[in-house]
Amino acid sequence: MMTFEGLGLDPKLVQAIDALGFTEPTPIQEKAIPILLSGTTDLVGLAQTGTGKTAAFGLPLLQLVDSTLKHPQALIVCPTRELCMQIVNEIELFKKFVPAMRILAVYGGTSISMQIRDLKRGIHIVVATPGRLIDLIERKAINLEQISYVVLDEADEMLNMGFQEDIEFILQNTPQRESTWLFSATMPPQIRKVSKKYMNSPVEITVGKVNTANKNVDHQYYVVSAQHRYETLKRLIDFNPGIYGIIFTRTKLDAQNVAEKLTREGYDIDALHGDLTQQQRDRVMKQFREKALQLLIATDVAARGIDVKEISHVINYELPDDIEVYTHRSGRTGRAGHTGICMSIVHSREVGKIKQIERLIQVPFHKLEVPTGKDVCRKQFFTFMDKLINTDISHGDYETYMPMLEEKFADISKEEVLKRVAGMEFDRFLKYYENAEDLNIRDDRRERRPIREAGISKIGSRDAGRREYRGGNGNMRLFVNLGTKDGFYKASFLQFILDMSELPKEVLGKIDMKELNSWIEIDPKAAEKMISAIDGKKFKGRRIRMNDANSR
Ligand code: ADP
Ligand code: MG
Repeated sequence: MMTFEGLGLDPKLVQAIDALGFTEPTPIQEKAIPILLSGTTDLVGLAQTGTGKTAAFGLPLLQLVDSTLKHPQALIVCPTRELCMQIVNEIELFKKFVPAMRILAVYGGTSISMQIRDLKRGIHIVVATPGRLIDLIERKAINLEQISYVVLDEADEMLNMGFQEDIEFILQNTPQRESTWLFSATMPPQIRKVSKKYMNSPVEITVGKVNTANKNVDHQYYVVSAQHRYETLKRLIDFNPGIYGIIFTRTKLDAQNVAEKLTREGYDIDALHGDLTQQQRDRVMKQFREKALQLLIATDVAARGIDVKEISHVINYELPDDIEVYTHRSGRTGRAGHTGICMSIVHSREVGKIKQIERLIQVPFHKLEVPTGKDVCRKQFFTFMDKLINTDISHGDYETYMPMLEEKFADISKEEVLKRVAGMEFDRFLKYYENAEDLNIRDDRRERRPIREAGISKIGSRDAGRREYRGGNGNMRLFVNLGTKDGFYKASFLQFILDMSELPKEVLGKIDMKELNSWIEIDPKAAEKMISAIDGKKFKGRRIRMNDANSR
């Protein structure tokens, strides 16, 4: 059996890992840690979610970073604030016996001045979201010049979210980078490009098949008509009384609406999405982690990488647009050796998508029938009986009240009492499901065209969902080494490049200006003219470099 010590980790780190109960390294840890400890090798680590990637990069960083120096030496970039905090929390545990090491999370949506102050206090490892990091760089609150290690965690998601330019900017502005470690669950072409462009013959480690889903998860789907989505969700929740799960929707609006509706109906649920304030998101996550909340409903972006222990179910209220996202969703359950269930509610036109996902993750799905009202009641009833029988009455002062109870119930039989207790608990289910219809689509009952999407909101369109985490269009993107530092602001820059190239402004798309560099979206037909007019020319004595942002 391979041990953490055997991988070359410092005894102080091993001691902390032992205390956490990690008995042996996971496969990605076993392969990555010895390579990363060299400090000079670039690495691309591909492994499904829940395989311990945080420790795979966190432990080597703790060993490589010198806590006697007073500047940041390692930078971990990840897509969301929740993930930043999770990574910091986990690394804090690993560094229990290296107290001098200081680690800080910086992310948007909260006071930047506090973070700037914290950064001045001698931080060694910075965990950041791309947007906030760029902000800090531009305010000169963080100096990347002395960063030796850059880790890109959940790299595919960051690129999906449109952070490509920011990532490239970060990589371009860490000149002392000794090594770059990129972790991802999937390997889309964009990532390959970034690794080619900014990494130095990276060692590529793949654990398991890329894109394969976790083996401990049972994948199930339910075919219903679109207007029964909400009803089906409720039934699935009711049919699984002990559920501790995450429900995914495509859009923030759907997450919000479904959460509100279920809350009104007495379910223990809250929503996590980008429109909430930071305090709200923190509160929701904390409650969910502490199991004070049974269900969390979230968008993909908000829940990415979140590691909550013992999630029993993931429910896809809607399938993701991008089938690769399915792996990330289902990977929230069945973690660290536990088993889990991932249920998808689909309508008949989406069955083809299930087949595609099956091929992608190479695990068969089980088509199940939505439980009937009777099934749900029966299930609830059995759960209730178990609860009743297992209720612990050993430490209550019940004896005091027994005479009163006996007197009150003197004329009522045991059967009668049981019925009443059951009635109290069950009326809601029995009434609700009394005339519940069959939600399954049978072959003889063809689905009519859905009138409303999702039965609860027609505003939560797919496009809105897409916009949430996707950038880009048909345009090509040019890189230019001019930025706000050269005295430009957007309008003057636009004027400058149009004047130089004599092109009309219609050929341009989005312009993204940073301090040192800018990115210009342009109609591919006009790109060459623009490059030849500008690349190599001088601006204030400096040579302008302009090229296709996607090539070297
Ligand atoms: P990933 O980033 O690959 O999705 P995480 O780093 O979030 O996975 O780890 C998933 C869970 O597994 C965490 O709760 C973590 O504490 C736990 N874990 C990591 N490494 C080990 C190990 N060697 N043994 C046991 N549990 C581990
Ligand atoms: Mg992770």
